[in-house]
Amino acid sequence: MVMAGAIRRPLVAGNWKMNGLKASAAELAAMVQGSGDLTAVDLLVCPPATLVAGFAELVAGSAILLGGQDCHPDASGAHTGDISAEMLADAGARAVIVGHSERRTNHRETDGLVRAKALAARRAGLIAIVCVGETRQQRESGATLNVVGGQLDGSLPDGASAADLVVAYEPVWAIGSGLTPTVADVAEVHRAIRAKLVDRYDAAGQGMRILYGGSVKPGNAKELMAVPDVDGALVGGASLKAADFLGIAAACR
Ligand code: PEP
Repeated sequence: MVMAGAIRRPLVAGNWKMNGLKASAAELAAMVQGSGDLTAVDLLVCPPATLVAGFAELVAGSAILLGGQDCHPDASGAHTGDISAEMLADAGARAVIVGHSERRTNHRETDGLVRAKALAARRAGLIAIVCVGETRQQRESGATLNVVGGQLDGSLPDGASAADLVVAYEPVWAIGSGLTPTVADVAEVHRAIRAKLVDRYDAAGQGMRILYGGSVKPGNAKELMAVPDVDGALVGGASLKAADFLGIAAACR
C-alpha cells in the first residue's frame, strides 16, 4: 500500500534557469531571511552554475540549500563547457535537476543520458531531481501515462533511495505558460508515478518525493500541494522572487 504524503517532508525547489547575476544575491538574502519560519519544508534554490559557489556562502547556516540545473555524467574530462556533479558538490550544491524538458528538447537529451546524469549525481553525493512530463499533443492524444511511464523506466537509476532521488512531474505545456492541469489530472499522474516507484524500489519508493512543476504560483500552490502524492513543487518563474517562492513554500506546510 502506498503511504500518505504526510510522511514525506515537502520539498520546494526553485529553478532559476538562465536568470541571475551576482546582484541576485539580494533576492536570495530575502529568501534566507524569510525562510526561518518554514521549518516543515525543505527549500532548494538552483541558480545558474556561475552563482552556486558565491551563493553557498550566503545560505550557510540557513534552511536554504543550493542545487545545480544540470550535470555531465562524467566526473571530469574533455567536455568543454560542461559541469560535473562533483564540481557542483564542490561549489556547495546538494542537489541537481536532471532531464528538465528544456534540456530534453533544446539539447536532445535522451532518457539514457538523463539516467547517466542521475547516477553521476548520486556518485557525487547529490540528490538527483529527475524531470518527466508530457507535451500538449501527448496529453491531448491520451498518451500522458504511457509517456511519463516510459520516461521513468528509462531515466531512473537502479538502486536509488529516498535520500538521493526525487521525481518532478512537469507537463511541458504547463511550464512557463500560466496553465496547470486539473487537480484530478495531477492526482492521476502522481498516483501512477508513485506506483512505478514502489514497483521499482519497493519501500524506498514510498518515501521518494514527487514534485509537481509547471506554473506553480502562490495563488495555486495550496490546491496543488494538497493533492495526494504531491510532495512539493519544482518552481521556475515564481522562484525568482523571494515573496513568491516563500509564499509557495508556506502553502506546503
Ligand atoms: C520549470 O521550468 O521547471 C518550471 C516549473 O517553470 P514555471 O514554474 O515557470 O512554469
